[in-house]
Amino acid sequence: MSHTVVSDGFDAYYDAWEAKLGSFLEVDRDALASSAARSTGGSSSNLDGLPFGVKDNIAVEGMRLSCASKLLDGFASPYSASAITRLMGRGAVPVGKTNMDEFGMGSSTDNSAFQRTNNPWDETRVAGGSSGGSAAAVAAGLVPFALGSDTGGSVRQPANFCGVVGLKPTYGTVSRFGLVAYASSLETIGVIADSATRARLVYEAIRGSDPMDQTSVDAPADTIPSQPRTIGVLSPASLAKALAVTLAGEAGDADALSEEAAREASGAAVLEPEVARGFEAAKEALRALGHKLVDVNLPSLKYAVPAYYTIATAEASANLARFDGIRYGNRPAYAENPDDLIDKTRSAGFGDEVKLRILLGTFVLRSGFQDRYYLRAQRIRTGIRLDFDRALSGCDAILMPVFPTRAFGRGAEALSPFAQKAADIFTCCANLAGLPALAFPTGVEGGLPVGAQLVGRAFGEGLLFELAEGYEAAHPIVRPAGYKAFWG
Ligand code: GLN
Repeated sequence: MSHTVVSDGFDAYYDAWEAKLGSFLEVDRDALASSAARSTGGSSSNLDGLPFGVKDNIAVEGMRLSCASKLLDGFASPYSASAITRLMGRGAVPVGKTNMDEFGMGSSTDNSAFQRTNNPWDETRVAGGSSGGSAAAVAAGLVPFALGSDTGGSVRQPANFCGVVGLKPTYGTVSRFGLVAYASSLETIGVIADSATRARLVYEAIRGSDPMDQTSVDAPADTIPSQPRTIGVLSPASLAKALAVTLAGEAGDADALSEEAAREASGAAVLEPEVARGFEAAKEALRALGHKLVDVNLPSLKYAVPAYYTIATAEASANLARFDGIRYGNRPAYAENPDDLIDKTRSAGFGDEVKLRILLGTFVLRSGFQDRYYLRAQRIRTGIRLDFDRALSGCDAILMPVFPTRAFGRGAEALSPFAQKAADIFTCCANLAGLPALAFPTGVEGGLPVGAQLVGRAFGEGLLFELAEGYEAAHPIVRPAGYKAFWG
């Protein structure tokens, strides 16, 4: 395959899109333009000369590293993340930093301290988050791929909202060196790309153990079982029912949610009709490709969101302690004493969502209460891992929705911050279990992309890619109006 590169007119193309999207916080236009020109005649079987976007919580030497926070505005990274160095070793060129929810906390990218990022399919809607800038830039064809980070869905959900491919790798297969930590035990650097094949190339370039990250490992060689595959399908309807029963049953509990919160939370697994239609069509398409579909049940999944938010905020409250104006962070002009300095730095620097999570994390870890929240969450985490192991012993991969809605809007069309968290149910479970998950577009419903994700066994990325590539060959990815393929 050769690139069908149209480097002429790339600058105008970029300007027109980016004025609508706001996907980049910093971009090297010269590097991008010359990559567009250089990639002419290249081959899509390698990464040489291809430009890529980098979420603003991943270090690229000499570029900003703000995590879309005022607290780090103006900070430039003195070194590059290992994933970046590896990609550069293959000839790929990091051309800019993409917008995100502050410190990776959110599902819309509207929690950025700097700008909004709009969805290439409908500018009034969000691109998803927290890697929304990366997803929007790839979906509009401004770059062929981008790196993001996925702690609870932040690569897969924006990829799903924008109609591109998103991989959350097995925990530890990609070095986290140079990724600003949010919740270290859950997160991975992930890939957002314009095709499953491209995502595979990028993943193969960045994976592998790294002396700079002691949790990194070399993945054992992928053993891909022979055809036909057996795909386990999680039924969103039965999960929704289990969730509703659990929440109702726990009323009267000292930790019970308010009635309104319980209603919002129990609706989190109920799919919007367009998403449900897309999911059914995806099942049909996989069956038509010769795969066998079987039902799977993951009983602990109904507890995934509270467990995820307990663990993620606990880790965040510790990880974000370094932003004190002494080691890192913009200091106030005047402070009475060191405590006042820390106080003023953090009060002025962090946005509301970040403050909320630091408070929540501090609350769940407070002395005498670990058993009630943190340790309970860890037990649920083990249960989820065991559920997946059991289910994956009877099938090769599990098909699940990515998010219950398509890209949501703002104002009256918005999803409340609470509902956004509850809706992480389909994504955060793969992070809790440490398993690989690949989100891929399956079609368009009512003018917006819909998709699904496949969750695999640890180190089973190869099979997930193979399944998605097979899907894509039969059902080419639909692009937003105005899209031009510059990167062939
Ligand atoms: N919505 C999740 C959260 O806000 C996703 C975070 C992520 O994966 N970085 O925590």
